[in-house]
Amino acid sequence: MGKLTPSTLRIGRRYRANRLDGPYDAVIIGSGIGGLTTAALLSDLGWKTCVLEQHYTAGGYTHSYDRNGYEWDVGVHYIGDVGARTRTRMMFDYLSGGELKWAPMDAEYDRFYVGDRTFSAIAGKQQFRENLVKRFPAEAQAIDSYMRLLDKVGRSLPAYTMSKLLKPWQRLLAWPYLKLKVSPLLFRNTYEVLSELTNDPDLIAVLCGQWGDMGLPPRQSAFMVHAMIARHYLYGGFYPTGGSWRIAETIIPKIQKTGGEVFTYARVNRILTTGKNVTGVEMADGHQIECNCVISSAGVSNTFEKLLPADAVANAGYDQLLKTVKPSMAHLGVYIGINQTAEQLELPKTNFWIYPDNDFDGAVEKFLDDPQAPFPVVYISFPSAKDPDYANRRPGTATIEIVAPAPFAWFEKWQDTIWGKRGDDYDRFKEQLGERLMQYVYEKLPQLNGKVDYYEVSTPLSTDYFCAYQKGELYGLDHDSMRLRQTWLGPRTRFNGLWLTGQDVLTCGVTGAMMAGLLTTSAIIGFRKSAGLLDRIFGDSNQENNP
Ligand SMILES: Cc1cc2nc3c(=O)[nH]c(=O)nc-3n(C[C@H](O)[C@H](O)[C@H](O)COP(=O)(O)OP(=O)(O)OC[C@H]3O[C@@H](n4cnc5c(N)ncnc54)[C@H](O)[C@@H]3O)c2cc1C
Repeated sequence: MGKLTPSTLRIGRRYRANRLDGPYDAVIIGSGIGGLTTAALLSDLGWKTCVLEQHYTAGGYTHSYDRNGYEWDVGVHYIGDVGARTRTRMMFDYLSGGELKWAPMDAEYDRFYVGDRTFSAIAGKQQFRENLVKRFPAEAQAIDSYMRLLDKVGRSLPAYTMSKLLKPWQRLLAWPYLKLKVSPLLFRNTYEVLSELTNDPDLIAVLCGQWGDMGLPPRQSAFMVHAMIARHYLYGGFYPTGGSWRIAETIIPKIQKTGGEVFTYARVNRILTTGKNVTGVEMADGHQIECNCVISSAGVSNTFEKLLPADAVANAGYDQLLKTVKPSMAHLGVYIGINQTAEQLELPKTNFWIYPDNDFDGAVEKFLDDPQAPFPVVYISFPSAKDPDYANRRPGTATIEIVAPAPFAWFEKWQDTIWGKRGDDYDRFKEQLGERLMQYVYEKLPQLNGKVDYYEVSTPLSTDYFCAYQKGELYGLDHDSMRLRQTWLGPRTRFNGLWLTGQDVLTCGVTGAMMAGLLTTSAIIGFRKSAGLLDRIFGDSNQENNP
């Protein structure tokens, strides 16, 4: 790795129509982890794939960017389940040919500031439990019941995931089995489930301290996603050594090996159809790429509201189905650079979650009613502290990132302005928000006062501009129970030759979107060939293997 020049962070090949080398066996829209995984797995099976990414670099939310000598990730702060030979780890190893390495965070991977109290999540199932019991001795029974519920969700997930592979008639046949295996617990409301275990609002708050990882507070979210996230990080958080951009960089060679390519600056304007058959895509420059296998990793909203013809969408019934889902929350990002190292500044390898009090839903409501109310959650991450290679690439510097919610509506009036030239009023608004958020950093880390060299603020419009989320969505579709019940949200679509992948297929998160890539590949190649593929990735391991 070593020292980087800014341009090395831009990965993928710049699109030009004359650089296309078709015919391609599959065209993939979007180079996030969902798109790259699908492309890499199909490439491994001998397919020639073409990934089309509208941004200047590949990776989607896993990309990194740099400015003024600093480097930040935009959508990867920590990944769980990669510290042992788990399925997640085996997938990353397979996709990257073992090139992607992981650095563990501190044992205290998440710290929750709830009003004036501080709680922690500690790595290791037993340690996690014991730490909670120590803080809430009267709630030991509730904590044990909670741990059992996490296991129960874990046991249900394979059947839930597999059900996404089925064609509608197969799902009907499999219904008795699915009913038995997929626990109704998955679709229950998080707060309801937890309040049946305990009356202690602080304990509920601590258990829900990661709600920002899926964008919905406990009274709105589905327990399935709550439990998946809690389970995912139970053995600690890990950061990709070398930065989050290494994820795409280490996967792309697999795609190129069989003649495929990942093109950047490659915006798809339309998915081409004849009746219910997909015939290819049309690029922003008007060039058409013919292909009867198009895989969209651009998200459900983009796919059905922007890329497909409205009449075809309505004829296939998607206009009605789309009413069952809604976009997830939008966010502000603050990207901070300091001219000292993480060690000199004593920055932790721990994420901070800062809450005004233990009523998370109430805080969201207050904030939506009054923008001057405290942010309902402020998340602070220390990427340069987490990445053991950072000092080699950017010596003598450190970075910090802040993420906080902000409704898209606040920024709507600037929607049609040009990036970088949105006007003084927009800049002033951003500045105010940035200053408010920086206070959270100074309060928790007073040693940083007077030391910040540079910071910049991103808004939901930046998310739309760089990552093509029309409403600045953090996590694609919202993770409420209604969404999780939608059987049409899966790899298959009602258009022949059109497939979906990425975070809207299963759940958000790098791992969720990566597993969606595996699911989509399996749906495309069929059960028989999938068995061989699974064998290659996971060998004879049937077990998650955490310590
Ligand atoms: C601030 C933030 C923090 C996060 N932190 C974490 C974390 O710590 N751990 C974790 O596991 N997950 C985290 N996530 C979530 C995780 O990053 C995402 O769930 C996951 O990366 C989504 O992958 P994807 O492939 O589905 O979509 P994306 O990565 O969004 O990829 C979709 C791609 O499609 C492209 N695209 C869209 N339309 C077009 C078009 N018309 N033509 C061409 N290309 C197009 C977009 O530019 C984009 O690159 C975070 C997300 C955010 C925003």
